[in-house]
Amino acid sequence: MNLETLRHSVSHIMAQAVKELYPDVKLGIGPATSDGFYYDFEKSTPFTPDDLFRIEKKMHEIIKANVPFIEDIFSREEAIKMFEELNESYKVELLREMDNCNVTVYRQGEFTDLCRGPHLRQTGETGKHFKLLDIAGAYWRGDERRPMLQRIYGTAFLEEAELQSYLEMQEEAKRRDHRKLGVELDLFSVGGEIGGGLVLWHPKGAVVRGVIEDFWRDEHTRRGYQLVYTPHIANASLWEKSGHLNYYSDLMYPLINVGNEEYLLKPMNCPLHIQIYKSHRRSYRDLPIRYGELGTVYRYERSGVLHGLLRTRGFTQDDAHIFCTPEQAPDEISGVIDLVKFMMESFGYKDLKVDLSVRDPLHKEKYMGGDRRWHQAEEILLTAIKSRGLDYKKKEREAVFYGPKIDIHLADALGKWWQGPTIQFDFNLPSQMDITYIGADGKAHDVIMIHRTVLGATERFIAGLIEYYKGALPIWLAPIQVAVLTISEKQEGYAAEVLAALLAAGLRAEIDKEGGTINAKIRQAEIKKVPCILIIGNREVAEETVSVRERKIHKNVVMKIEKFVTRAKEKIRNKEVG
Ligand SMILES: [Zn+2]
Ligand SMILES: [Zn+2]
Repeated sequence: MNLETLRHSVSHIMAQAVKELYPDVKLGIGPATSDGFYYDFEKSTPFTPDDLFRIEKKMHEIIKANVPFIEDIFSREEAIKMFEELNESYKVELLREMDNCNVTVYRQGEFTDLCRGPHLRQTGETGKHFKLLDIAGAYWRGDERRPMLQRIYGTAFLEEAELQSYLEMQEEAKRRDHRKLGVELDLFSVGGEIGGGLVLWHPKGAVVRGVIEDFWRDEHTRRGYQLVYTPHIANASLWEKSGHLNYYSDLMYPLINVGNEEYLLKPMNCPLHIQIYKSHRRSYRDLPIRYGELGTVYRYERSGVLHGLLRTRGFTQDDAHIFCTPEQAPDEISGVIDLVKFMMESFGYKDLKVDLSVRDPLHKEKYMGGDRRWHQAEEILLTAIKSRGLDYKKKEREAVFYGPKIDIHLADALGKWWQGPTIQFDFNLPSQMDITYIGADGKAHDVIMIHRTVLGATERFIAGLIEYYKGALPIWLAPIQVAVLTISEKQEGYAAEVLAALLAAGLRAEIDKEGGTINAKIRQAEIKKVPCILIIGNREVAEETVSVRERKIHKNVVMKIEKFVTRAKEKIRNKEVG
């Protein structure tokens, strides 16, 4: 049995159950997805979790009745008439947009749906291994100007054990969800009064981001990058010249009028870095040039796809552009891969998956740059991947029109893959924006341009880290590294001295102000995922020591404060994970 057919059939059964329980509901669409199915409904009052139980119960009845899925073929006009009579205006809208040919309609029991199929033969064949999971709002056809429908998500499997293990994974994913942990750990907030998809970094989240950005800047400077800053808006004529206005306008915000000129929020940093390149005449002796920027960009995303830090309307790319000669390109690509490996390992990511996106071999005419350059660039990327011992998959037809690229994905604890670093050749922008270098022969030559990010987007990368570590970030990234807790008020004076020593040593430390029993204080620090807890009682005051309790090690070790500081700083320097 095909899993997709099973899930799609279960979505029909869910829609039937909904119609039987709530006859006024109108149907949207209900496809199978990669991990289940959904169906969209128009209903005047919201579905509640209790409704999901009722719907599930009704679904079991329908499955038990084991009625057949019956396929009928109608002309489009007949089908329109039928769905008009059923008062299914969304189905009628879909039908009106179809070519005037025959359409298939499926029935099971009293339920009728417009659908291409295929389905199982009988409702009983679906088995009992399904579960309704969630209710969410979804605009009809993903369009904010259309009505908001209610989407019920569910999943179904062939075996009960598969369903159970999926549900356990879902529970674990919920516990790790960066949106939930972001609130609990007071790291950031997204949307609300400031607008959908916009991020506020709270002090603790700002610390995490700052540490990552400092690391990024240091590492790039060390590897010969020059850091730059560029503005958030730029003249529309620049975006026209770069081609963004033509090819990218769907993702760009409307024009901003400034005096007699029109400006645009930047969706990318590239044309601005090119302007810096263009500010001088460049000779082969100047190359390679590597400009890096933590550049915040703005892209229009529909409200339906916004998701925590993963899909936002403003985010910060750890962007860099390398300008080099063709001869320098192999070393530049290898250098980027080394940087990527080093940084990803520093964050604790061990499993990397590499995709090499190349042209559609049958339609080479769709791509800019010519055969020779494409071939050369693919070879350079491939050689670099292989020389670094990385496994890769070649993806034909996945390349964008202006050059081949490498995408690197990171595996998280639940086997989910996250979009990470990208290395992209560009045969288009340099000619579009008219940049060259003067070769040894005194003539102008095409410069090779490489776009690359290591983290991808700072926001998405931090979301990934939060989920990967379940909020318990390694000590070098933790917003609070040390919590100082006293057993009673009597130790407060000494605790203040300890705190001062920690802060003076450059550690991010905090003293509890809440009061309560020591166990309650420890519990609080653990909820905040603080890696090191220092407990101070009378004995510690008398001996001028601290009792150290490290995350995951539920044992206290008494030591001098200097020794603790040395150990903690060593762990931070080594970016120890754990
Ligand atoms: Zn169907
Ligand atoms: Zn770029």
